[in-house]
Amino acid sequence: MALCRLFLYVVTLLLVAIPAGASQSLEIGQGAVKLKHFPVEYFVDGSQSLDYESVRLEPFETTTSTATLGNRAPVAWYRISLQNTSASDQSLFLHLPKAYHVRSIDIIEERSASLVNNLSIDLNNAEAHPTIYKGTLVYPFVLPGGQSTVLYVRSHAYSHQWFSLGIYDEEHSRHELVGSHLDIALMVGMMLALVFYNSLLYFATSKKENIFYSLYLISGLVWIALSYGLVAKAFSAYGDAIFMLNLSIISMPIFLLLFMMAIFETREYYRTENRVLQAMLVPLIVAFVYGLFDITAVLKFSDNLAALVMLVTFSVSLSLLRKGHPLVKFFLVGHTFFLIFNGIAVMYYKGMVTPNYINSHGVGIGIILEALTLAFIISYRIKLLEDIRSKQDELKRQASTDPLTRLYNRRHFMAEGEYLLAKAKESGESLSVIALDIDHFKLVNDTHGHNVGDLVLVEVASTFRKLSRDRDLVARFGGEEFLILLPGADLDEAFGCAERIRAAVESLAIAASENVVVRVTVSLGVVQVNPTLETLEDAVNRTDQLLYEAKAAGRNRVSGFYN
Ligand code: GH3
Ligand code: MG
Ligand code: MG
Repeated sequence: MALCRLFLYVVTLLLVAIPAGASQSLEIGQGAVKLKHFPVEYFVDGSQSLDYESVRLEPFETTTSTATLGNRAPVAWYRISLQNTSASDQSLFLHLPKAYHVRSIDIIEERSASLVNNLSIDLNNAEAHPTIYKGTLVYPFVLPGGQSTVLYVRSHAYSHQWFSLGIYDEEHSRHELVGSHLDIALMVGMMLALVFYNSLLYFATSKKENIFYSLYLISGLVWIALSYGLVAKAFSAYGDAIFMLNLSIISMPIFLLLFMMAIFETREYYRTENRVLQAMLVPLIVAFVYGLFDITAVLKFSDNLAALVMLVTFSVSLSLLRKGHPLVKFFLVGHTFFLIFNGIAVMYYKGMVTPNYINSHGVGIGIILEALTLAFIISYRIKLLEDIRSKQDELKRQASTDPLTRLYNRRHFMAEGEYLLAKAKESGESLSVIALDIDHFKLVNDTHGHNVGDLVLVEVASTFRKLSRDRDLVARFGGEEFLILLPGADLDEAFGCAERIRAAVESLAIAASENVVVRVTVSLGVVQVNPTLETLEDAVNRTDQLLYEAKAAGRNRVSGFYN
């Protein structure tokens, strides 16, 4: 409907030469008034100095109440012609919901070609102005019965001429103003939660990308809060005071590039791409620093800069994709979202599409979608790193354990044992060793076969593990000989442990098959290590000696000083 009306309006304008100041009027009747999308005329004052008297003679062009004029129209005049078709006076309210963006606004009410009322607002002093309500300028006026009125609005923007106009009766005016902006608050809240989470991740992992991502998010959420009026609404802050926050549009790509360099590890593995990203950082940083002094000047070419950043990030991503980087495809998806929604938003800002929620919030939606994709990339990278680590752990485990019994092997026992010995030497804690050997094991193999022999080894090994403490080092030293190193245990305790193991193995009934039960015994030697006087090898040799003594003494016994 709105499009049809707009089309008809444009056609009328093209066919009929309309003299300045006499345009088609919006007809206001007796019923409810809630006008959001309607034709509006505009005139860009390049000189920025024309007053109402001279502007009203200028040729105005047509647009709509929600289209915007980009960044080449810092001073624009809008004209709305209203015709009261009823006989009674109508109390109405002109809304400018994007008033928080601009430097100053003038409203002039004209009837029968002469000024009847006017209002001037400098947004730097907006806090004191009752007509600014949470970012929206509200101008009350009366449309006398049967008469026509022309409203002129002069908007002096800092940079982008983003505007939107609405005309309401009292009830709808109130209704418009209570609109809570819950959606924007939700977007900002979600991004804040991501910032918090990524800061925690940074403390846990010290990975730079979490910090760059957090700073990128902060830039994004500041921009969203500023552009969609949340800052103005929440803090009643306008004008120069918050205009500097627009620097976030420059800091956002800076942190995005730094994030890309960190997460794709370009410095380490992709030199060319790294150089391209670094080169792109230069103009952005220059623009940021320059913006600290003259943000308006920087915003003038921010669109071109954004296009260049897009070109660079897409080229680098495609190049990394071609080289098979595992994360870059997700980045491309997020970045494409960003580009699509920004494209939609640009069409909205340039007045090329009928305004709706998606296109009027396009940049915010693009930022959120990209932010979520980047969060996914971070978690995916954590998963990739975790996979590599667990593979390494598995290799390490394989290298240090015996595949049959899953106990530590001789190499690991000696390496870890040296460490525990050094620690015992330093702390003065006692340290003991137990050597174990299965009695007449050859007989088990000979009688029941090698497989049953293996099963016996596994069962006996598991008994050793069960009866030792977590901090003990239990190893298969070779064949059917085992060693246990017991940190913190003196000879007495080690002897007790050895005796418990001996008894447990003796009572172990290993079911080799349905009706074959194998029983074995072990012989053990126990020594307490003297860390200051002997090496681990010396201690193991002494223990072995005792083990053979136990064998010689008849097997199934513990040999130590308490024997
Ligand atoms: P002793 O009481 O004197 O220790 O007699 P023993 O038979 O246990 O000692 P010996 O050293 O003569 O025999 C050890 C046997 O252990 C010989 C070897 O075939 C067997 N053996 C070593 N490693 C394995 C293994 O991984 N699996 C099986 N099934 N047998 C093994
Ligand atoms: Mg043996
Ligand atoms: Mg042996």
